[in-house]
Amino acid sequence: MEPEDLKTCPYVPNHRMPASRLQYHLASCKKKNPNIAKKMANCKYNACHVVPIERLKEHEANCTERTAVDDAKPCLKITKGLGGNTMVKHPWVQFLVGKKKCYKSH
Ligand SMILES: [Zn+2]
Ligand SMILES: [Zn+2]
Repeated sequence: MEPEDLKTCPYVPNHRMPASRLQYHLASCKKKNPNIAKKMANCKYNACHVVPIERLKEHEANCTERTAVDDAKPCLKITKGLGGNTMVKHPWVQFLVGKKKCYKSH
């Protein structure tokens, strides 16, 4: 087993964890740091992408998940990338993230 790539929490850079835990961490970290969280926004393509609100448009325009969603025929494509780990273990999360996009493109 290779050690998992550690990801940095977008809210508090001191928080580091494997990609597989980031999603859960983000939810709790957001609650614990509302002042930081209110300046941040979730990328609509990937729930694990949290960027400053003023950079959200820029991020979404360049988001790597955006092309993945666009190219995906089934909406439930599991996200790869961000260090090559499979980020989303629960397909419904990706489904919620990608739903809008999928509807639009059909
Ligand atoms: Zn954190
Ligand atoms: Zn993104």
